[in-house]
Amino acid sequence: KPTVVFDNVVFGYEDDRDILHGLSFEVPAGAHVAIVGPSGAGKSTIGRLLFRFYDPQSGRILIDGQDIASVTQESLRAAIGIVPQDSVLFNDTIGYNIGYGREDARDEDIARAAADAAILPFIRSLPDGFDTEVGERGLKLSGGEKQRVAIARTLLKNPPILLLDEATSALDTRTEQEITGTLRRVSRNRTSIAIAHRLSTVADADTIFVLDKGRLAESGSHQQLLRHD
Ligand code: ADP
Ligand code: ADP
Repeated sequence: KPTVVFDNVVFGYEDDRDILHGLSFEVPAGAHVAIVGPSGAGKSTIGRLLFRFYDPQSGRILIDGQDIASVTQESLRAAIGIVPQDSVLFNDTIGYNIGYGREDARDEDIARAAADAAILPFIRSLPDGFDTEVGERGLKLSGGEKQRVAIARTLLKNPPILLLDEATSALDTRTEQEITGTLRRVSRNRTSIAIAHRLSTVADADTIFVLDKGRLAESGSHQQLLRHD
């Protein structure tokens, strides 16, 4: 269970305009934290920096004490599993979509998924299980079913860090709560960071970081943040 640290990170997409203004926060090993804030606050940018799509102008990002600037792209990808808001699925079966990434070992991956305790809670709620065709871009599935497939696919890689980038934001409240609850149960042995724009959906996070215009406005448990309002 790795720690994730942003240490005084300054970043702008163009040199003349900073998006993150010396952002610092710490995610303890095994913690489930959330980053909330209005649209444009810089939440998704944090994810892009974590994957080194971009590098900060100054400051450091550490995973388990190691500066990610000195980590290979390959081991970064193995360390962090991402679930984006709008996951793209292959026009194939649910099983194929969960096992993808190692096409040479397709049947083996599907068999592994079918026996994986972290994956099963997501599959049980899907229609007919692994053989269901998802259709063009997953169109035959509901939004919630699509995201369950995307989460199962990410969990199969068993990443020690899970980054949920608005992964359930497009879903209705009940589906969102079901998926969040299941995620929490299967994430005990991981560190997770959930990016969200509604405070209510991340109420059970260990710590919520509130980002405003690229700065940490406040942080604390849901209860603590409500008291401040
Ligand atoms: P959030 O996820 O909180 O909505 P983002 O991190 O996506 O915010 O964006 C933060 C700011 O960075 C916004 O003002 C946005 O317009 C700007 N931005 C995002 N992506 C890019 C990009 N690729 N190039 C330039 N500016 C960008
Ligand atoms: P792999 O990385 O093993 O090829 P993934 O399922 O993790 O397989 O593929 C998703 C990859 O695409 C991630 O590793 C990440 O680099 C990138 N990616 C996809 N969506 C996003 C997003 N919203 N923000 C940042 N990175 C993303």
